[in-house]
Amino acid sequence: MGPHNGRTALVTGGTSGIGLAVVRELATRGTAVFLCARNAEVVETTVKELRAEGLNVAGTVCDVRDADAVRRTVEEAVAFGPIDILVNNAGRSGGGITAEIPEELWQDVLDTNLTSVFRTTQAVLNSGMPERGWGRIINIASTAGKQGVVYGAPYSASKHGVVGFTKALGLELAGSGVTVNAVCPGYVETPMAQRIRAGYAQHWEVTEDAVLTKFNAKIPLGRYSTPEEVAGLVGYLTTVTADAITAQALNVCGGLGNF
Ligand code: NDP
Repeated sequence: MGPHNGRTALVTGGTSGIGLAVVRELATRGTAVFLCARNAEVVETTVKELRAEGLNVAGTVCDVRDADAVRRTVEEAVAFGPIDILVNNAGRSGGGITAEIPEELWQDVLDTNLTSVFRTTQAVLNSGMPERGWGRIINIASTAGKQGVVYGAPYSASKHGVVGFTKALGLELAGSGVTVNAVCPGYVETPMAQRIRAGYAQHWEVTEDAVLTKFNAKIPLGRYSTPEEVAGLVGYLTTVTADAITAQALNVCGGLGNF
C-alpha cells in the first residue's frame, strides 16, 4: 500500500468510467477509498485490481436505489475508516420522447440519480462527518444539470435536482468545515457515453460514428473529456486549498457548458 493521508472516501459507482477514475485519483493521493456498485463480481475484481496496483481500496455491493443497502454500505465504509469524503457518482442515463416516457423510467432515473444522493449524503452526515469539523461532499452532476438535453428530460431534471441539492446543502453546512460541490461533466468517454451514442444512433437511424462526429462538433474543444480529467477536479476539491469552494457546480466539459 502507498502512504495513507489519514482520510477515507466513499465513492458510489466506483467500478466504471468516472467513478473508477475518481477512486484511482483519490487513492493515489493517499486516501483510503471504499467503493460500491451493483455488480458483485465487478466490485470484487475492481478492488482486487486496484489493490494489486498498491492502492488502499475496499468495496461492497450496493444499489443506491435501496435505502437499506445504502445504510449498510455507509456502516461498512465507516468500519474501513470514518468517512471524510463522499463522492456521489452512481448514475444512469435515461430519456426518450417525453410524451412516451413510462412513469417507471422517470421514477428510476430520479431515484438513481437524485434520491440516492440525498439518501447517501444523509447517512454519511449522520455518521459524524460535520462533528469531525472537516469533510467533502462531491456530487457528480452533469452539464445536463444546468442546460436542457434533448430527449433527456428525466436525466436533465434529475441532474438539475442534484445541482439544487448541492447548492442548498453547501449553504446549510457552510462554516462546519464540510464543503458541498457538484462537478458537472459534459461528454466524457465512458461505457455510459458509448451506450448513449448507441441510443441516439438507433433513434436517428445513423451510425454510432456519425453520432460521435456530431457530438464532437458540438464541443468547443472538439472532443470528449476523459474520466481522468473529471477525476482531477474531484481530487483538487479534496485538498485543503479548496476549503473556500462550496455550494458550487463546476463544469469539466471542453467548453460545452458556459455557466
Ligand atoms: P458508467 O455507466 O461507466 O458507470 C456507472 C457506475 O455506477 C458503475 O460503476 C455502475 O456499476 C454504477 N451504478 C449504476 N447504477 C447504480 C446503482 N443503482 N447503484 C449503485 N451503483 C450504480 O457511467 P459514467 O462513468 O459515464 O457516469 C458516472 C456519473 O457521471 C453518472 O452520475 C453520470 O450521470 C455522470 N455523467 C456522465 C457523463 C458522461 O458523458 N459519461 C456526462 C455527465 C455526467 P453497476 O452497473 O455494477 O451498478
